[in-house]
Amino acid sequence: MTKIRTAAVIGSGVMGSGIAAHLANAGIPVLLLDMVPAQLLPQEEAAGLTLEHPKVRNRLAVSAMDKLKKTNPAPLYSEAFIDRLTPGNLEDDLAKLGQVDWIIEVIVENLQAKQQLLSRIETVWKPGTIVSSNTSGISIHAMTQNVGDEFKKHFLGTHFFNPPRYMKLLEVIPSQHTDPAIISFMTEFCEKKLGKGVVQAKDTPNFIANRIGTYGLLVTLREMIANGYSVEEVDAVTGPAMGRPKSATFRTLDLVGLDTFVHVANNVFGLVTEPSEKAVFDTPAILQTMVEKGWIGEKTGQGFYKKV
Ligand code: NAD
Repeated sequence: MTKIRTAAVIGSGVMGSGIAAHLANAGIPVLLLDMVPAQLLPQEEAAGLTLEHPKVRNRLAVSAMDKLKKTNPAPLYSEAFIDRLTPGNLEDDLAKLGQVDWIIEVIVENLQAKQQLLSRIETVWKPGTIVSSNTSGISIHAMTQNVGDEFKKHFLGTHFFNPPRYMKLLEVIPSQHTDPAIISFMTEFCEKKLGKGVVQAKDTPNFIANRIGTYGLLVTLREMIANGYSVEEVDAVTGPAMGRPKSATFRTLDLVGLDTFVHVANNVFGLVTEPSEKAVFDTPAILQTMVEKGWIGEKTGQGFYKKV
């Protein structure tokens, strides 16, 4: 019988850290893994650390956990629950993935990177372990192109929304190979244990929420530019005044990360053929320029808004 007592989250960025925190809220111990940094920070160099030092190798996951304690609204029900998270890195801790019941992939929104990661996971995968992706819209079927049939049966999309503690919606996306028993188990688990409102979505580009959401955001941005509205004006009418408690259009984009948003929009753009859809999902140049400048939102302190 399938049970989830422990989990691993791979990718400790905006979503991975938030998902790990939400699992910790539900009493589940989580291994939180990221990449090994390629370069030392000036303070690490000054402290005489090398790239081989565990403090450096685990830095990304450790600093993500530090951020969790400072984020407002709080991702954790209690700060003490941080002890349920164990930071690590994919190089040193890969074998540990063979000891958990659920592995969640939460890395960059890129098909090749996700395919490569799944192949690595498969080398240590314990039959029965559920593996899911938090992709915003990449095909679940395409991700499993290079893995075996047994692994495919245990793989599906579990798409959390940002921030995971507060957003009730979760899309469950099976591929054509996902075992129906795993789909039912995960639907029930995410509803009962994680408190989510699960919607099952087909494996179509960007599934449901991001297909509609990305469309809405891109149309809004184009209308803003064409009509000379300001960011503040658009947010004033798409935020609390509209009954959305906190978020508004551009605040949401800054929270999501413009880099991730561009990947998500490009994913649909590359897969639709209808000219009218192509025209909508072709991202306006301003987004690309902002990403090139590093103005990607809260991650860097500058997006549509600047952190002061
Ligand atoms: P992010 O850029 O904040 O974090 C990604 C993390 O993954 C980084 O810490 C990075 O170092 C790590 N990483 C990248 N490649 C890796 C690899 N090969 N192995 C191990 N770690 C790797 O991104 P995010 O916003 O957290 O998005 C992660 C996933 O969740 C994406 O698929 C994205 O589409 C999806 N998602 C994002 C949001 C959102 O609001 N940002 C919402 C729902 C889903």
